[in-house]
Amino acid sequence: MRIVLLGAPGAGKGTQAKRLAEKYNMVHLSSGDILRAEKASGSPLGRKVATYMVAGKLVPDEVVVEIMAQAVAAPRQASGLLLDGFPRTVPQAQALDAQLDRLGTPLDRVVMIDVSEDVVVDRICGRRSCPKCGAIYHVTHLPPKVAGRCDQCGYQGQFEQRDDDTEPVVRQRLGAYRKLTAPLLEYYRRVSPDKVLVVDGNRRPDEVTAALVAKLAPAA
Ligand SMILES: [Zn+2]
Repeated sequence: MRIVLLGAPGAGKGTQAKRLAEKYNMVHLSSGDILRAEKASGSPLGRKVATYMVAGKLVPDEVVVEIMAQAVAAPRQASGLLLDGFPRTVPQAQALDAQLDRLGTPLDRVVMIDVSEDVVVDRICGRRSCPKCGAIYHVTHLPPKVAGRCDQCGYQGQFEQRDDDTEPVVRQRLGAYRKLTAPLLEYYRRVSPDKVLVVDGNRRPDEVTAALVAKLAPAA
């Protein structure tokens, strides 16, 4: 099975991607990981990626597409593929479709984990981490067993919140994501409406996984 997984920051995409890849024996390709790996390899393409990343710029579509096309075509990907963070734009989606057509392995599903903005704000802004071991907590959904004490390492004191996990920043990130993704979803709805699945992500991770599996099962 080959799927593209879409979801806003805070939608729980990473967690679900890991679970689905395992369950359906798909290779999980995250665009962030692949771009970083290419950069680290020092290849000519990797050096190109590095110049954009160092300058804090978005890597342009044609470079992302070239790298992802290589990754998608690797032989071990034939059994199944879960794309996470790619495509991000309509031109990228068109290039991906063209590449998969060439390989004779079109997408089976485009899955969108849909979450409300308020749920994401609550998830992200309530996130705290242990300054000593990095364990992740949430002020209401996942507090440590003993208040102010880390379950993992026993640290006692203040837990940390990331500087950019504040409501205005999160809402701005969500706005930017929506602007980018809305046309992408429209594109898939136009070219392959029967492949698009939208799953309600405003639930506990296990419930979201169960809903995903129930909807994906016929394609597996
Ligand atoms: Zn800790």
